[in-house]
Amino acid sequence: MSFDLQLDSTRWRKHLDTVLAEMPQLIPVVKGNGYGFGRERLYAEASRLGADTIGVGTQFEVSEALERFAGDIQVLTPWRSFLPSVDSSRVIHTISRAADLTELADTQPGARVVLELETSMARFGMGADELTKCRDALGSFVLEGVTVHLPLRRSNLAEVRRLIATAIEAGLASDKFFASHLTVAELETLKGDYPDLTIRPRVGTRLWLGDPAAMQAVGTVLETHGVERGERVGYRQEAISRSGTIVIVSGGTGHGIGLEAPRHADSMVDRGKAFARGSLAAAGWTRSPFWIEGRQRLFLEPPHMQVSMLFLPTGCPAPAVGDQVRAAVRWTTTSFDRVIEAEHDAEHQIEAPAD
Ligand SMILES: *Cc1c(COP(=O)(O)O)cnc(C)c1O
Repeated sequence: MSFDLQLDSTRWRKHLDTVLAEMPQLIPVVKGNGYGFGRERLYAEASRLGADTIGVGTQFEVSEALERFAGDIQVLTPWRSFLPSVDSSRVIHTISRAADLTELADTQPGARVVLELETSMARFGMGADELTKCRDALGSFVLEGVTVHLPLRRSNLAEVRRLIATAIEAGLASDKFFASHLTVAELETLKGDYPDLTIRPRVGTRLWLGDPAAMQAVGTVLETHGVERGERVGYRQEAISRSGTIVIVSGGTGHGIGLEAPRHADSMVDRGKAFARGSLAAAGWTRSPFWIEGRQRLFLEPPHMQVSMLFLPTGCPAPAVGDQVRAAVRWTTTSFDRVIEAEHDAEHQIEAPAD
């Protein structure tokens, strides 16, 4: 009895193929929890899509990716000397400071590198002066191109043009330019503006999670108990303020349950409304991501490692042991026990919060 991702893989693959057709140069990103699917499945899909390169999150993810994926591996977090670094002709390091290039030269002088420019994200990357320093220190490194990480906003066109101009001025944009978060329309426009430049969009979320209807998180009811008001229950042995049913469902902190993005009841206004209704949410009860009988149900107490305890008020029909309970989870923080094949069921779909 597990916490599962139900995947309509026919539908999912159709979506992946559509994204690839729109962005033939795309670099699939396979990192972290594998966007809920697990990295293993994404390496395989990236191969099926015919990707020549994937992006991985950290230097720690490189060894595994080399074993599971036959093409090139671009490490998205900029290289740092104090982290383990795999020396392989299939690995492309991201460099965001000239000093790192000097350090990398000691151990991997012929490594393949991309140079990252700072964007309005203000996460990693360098300015024009530092980029020039890197250019002059390239030595026998193989320069793969310039890379940028853009914010999630309506249009990144103006900013990306500025960044490409910076790369061109440094004499570094003759070949490839790697970017995240560009739309199909923006890519088309840029292709027109810079016909000699190969722009490689790195895509994770829009690729893997772009058709939420292909996916559904489900827990399984493992136990139910009737409870009377005043009874002491749970780890914390607090007296319950209402009578009803406690439902034990698979899916706990070990799966990432309880890490959902804040939702409605968490805003002050909604808490106020909840308070006005005298609801349990206002009394400090928290909404769980689990839906039963058409409503998002409250946690009896914070989720446990492998299960959650939910509360159903008197009058709400209790599910049976073995019943499945749908959940609205954040895919990038959830680890599933299994991915199981299931056709999309529009009628019962529960929408996941945005990642
Ligand atoms: C994670 C990441 C991406 C992919 O981001 P999504 O929003 O999942 O598409 C692209 N580039 C860099 C540098 C990243 O860290």
